[in-house]
Amino acid sequence: MTGDLRVNPVLAESELPYGLPDFASISDDDFLQAYDQALAAHLAEVDVIASSPAAPTFDNTIGALEASGRALARANGIFFNLEGPDTNPQRAEIAQVLAVRLTEHGNAITMNPQLFARISALYDRRDDLGLDAAQLRLLTQRYRDTVRAGAALDADGQAQMREISGRLATLTTDFGQRLLDDTNASAVHFVDAAELDGLSVAEIAAASRAAADAGRDGYLVSLELPTSQSAVAKLTDPLSRQRVFDASMTRCARGNEYDTRAMIIEIVTLRARRAALLGYASHAEYVIAEETAPSPTAVADLLTELGTAAMAAGDAELARLTERGGHPLAPADVTYYLAADQRARAANSDSADGDSGASVDIGDFEDYCELDAVLNDGVFVAAGKLYGLSFAERDDLAGYHPDVRVWEVSRDGEGIGLFLGDFYARPSKRGGAWMNNIVDQSHQLGTAPIIVNVLNLTKPEPGQPCLLSLDQLVTLFHEFGHAIHGLLSSVEYVSQSGTSVPRDFVEFPSQVNEMWALHPDVVGRYARHHVTGESAPQVLLDAVRGAGGTESAHSTVEYLAAAALDLAWHRLAEADVPDDVLAFEARALADAGLASELIPPRYRSTYFNHVFGGGYSSAYYSYIWSEILDAETEQWFLAGGGLQPDLGAAFADAVLSRGDSVDPVAAHAAMIGHPARIEPLLTRRGLA
Ligand SMILES: [Zn+2]
Repeated sequence: MTGDLRVNPVLAESELPYGLPDFASISDDDFLQAYDQALAAHLAEVDVIASSPAAPTFDNTIGALEASGRALARANGIFFNLEGPDTNPQRAEIAQVLAVRLTEHGNAITMNPQLFARISALYDRRDDLGLDAAQLRLLTQRYRDTVRAGAALDADGQAQMREISGRLATLTTDFGQRLLDDTNASAVHFVDAAELDGLSVAEIAAASRAAADAGRDGYLVSLELPTSQSAVAKLTDPLSRQRVFDASMTRCARGNEYDTRAMIIEIVTLRARRAALLGYASHAEYVIAEETAPSPTAVADLLTELGTAAMAAGDAELARLTERGGHPLAPADVTYYLAADQRARAANSDSADGDSGASVDIGDFEDYCELDAVLNDGVFVAAGKLYGLSFAERDDLAGYHPDVRVWEVSRDGEGIGLFLGDFYARPSKRGGAWMNNIVDQSHQLGTAPIIVNVLNLTKPEPGQPCLLSLDQLVTLFHEFGHAIHGLLSSVEYVSQSGTSVPRDFVEFPSQVNEMWALHPDVVGRYARHHVTGESAPQVLLDAVRGAGGTESAHSTVEYLAAAALDLAWHRLAEADVPDDVLAFEARALADAGLASELIPPRYRSTYFNHVFGGGYSSAYYSYIWSEILDAETEQWFLAGGGLQPDLGAAFADAVLSRGDSVDPVAAHAAMIGHPARIEPLLTRRGLA
């Protein structure tokens, strides 16, 4: 009987390779007690640092803070990697409790006056401390973060900050949970398989299984996170398309218990109030002050410039689709005809080459994109050629769910970390795709990275292959780009590790990795027919590369509209926050020149999880901002011969291994020899 001496399993030192948590030993009942201990331990460590009689030095203050809170980091690495991809009612409740407790905990540290005095004293003498560039950057960042959290406010201001941050933590956590609940509740029910004509056999089987799991007859088509649903692009029956489209568009805005409109108003109000308290004109000013973009105005200008060109391209595209449809299009028809148009154009461009014979359908490409082949002979091979990485699946190691697979990652024969793949959708998983860290790399702490990629692929029936659509294929490479950023990290301080870079830079490495999905030196290796094993015909590869090489105007417009919407909400002063969410949304899109009846934003406000539930408020523009760097870098790789180890080594050395220990934009410019220009992006998006 160990009684109170029992080490909480969440906090127990793992015996497993790389410190992989022993998930099987952890019960949900352990978390709150683990956090009680971990938070108290961290506060005690911080108190020792803050009240030290020794004069502040970088090592005894900033370095010591970096090394503190290891138990808390461990608990966070475990809990938040369960709560996103595999939640349940108990975990959701714990997440709510933690949202408030972790916010209060952060406030207790940032508003510790003794600690702030030490950090300020160091910051004032920062140029005389003999720091290296990474340390100077870390000290500056720590000082700014502390001030931005309210450390320099008077007691009344700090009290307001505490109240605002606590309430925001609750609201944003609740937003994500409500959205997940309503997305599940909005799955569309069909009685007859004929209504699902156009979906693949596997998708229809998944819909049948989803209905059975919900105790219903027939078929349930689950919704994906964005407005555009892949089912809508495939369903041949206009009525079926309309039903799925409407379910997507009205999420969290139907006046029931999942409605998020009142929450949005409160979130926007509180963010504006906090910004004002800290001396910023708006939440967008407050957020973008820490980004690589110079200001909200600069972001708005970019969105306007791109938006004008994209709307013109969108009109031309819609005219072509209307012609193809032979009738005026409803909003629910657009992506369906867009997919048909893409297929037809791919087929035509092939026969125009005089390569007559069997017509080519890019939809057939799915048959050549089996998940394991794409991983082993595509994703991993590209990372091997470029960065010298190799991957060995460790069947002896278990993830947090039976579907999770674990690979050991080596470089030049030496293990550098673990990669976990959690590929299949399930009702307990948030929508979308993302990368996360269970353990961050740090030389100071002696830790190696443990990185997770989470996707929402339809799980195949037992014995059946998991075939990827073109979008899913690109997403797999994208998320793996984030994983590489985490795995190659080689920095001293954990705060600067891996993807801990500015938000409008973090998408850049992942976007670059997308270029390998269809690169001739990669696609030829993995694209084999899942039944016959035959390589994909060259005409099909050419057609897919043609179709995949340019973004549709639709996709650019829907993205820009969402980015403009995010910015509009967060440039408001508190006094200007409206009370009608959907009316404001319509006005904001019109003001940005991005209102289109046929192309709704990628996310409407009521289900815009990135900005109201996640970390992308005033930062959804980041994707296009990073894409400027990405498009330049793609040109740089192609000019240098593509999948070349010397290019990979240069990219790893300048950017991927550095995390936030250097100014990442300057490091990139030094690598390519000049600051990134916008022209490669305009060309890629068909906006030149
Ligand atoms: Zn990403």
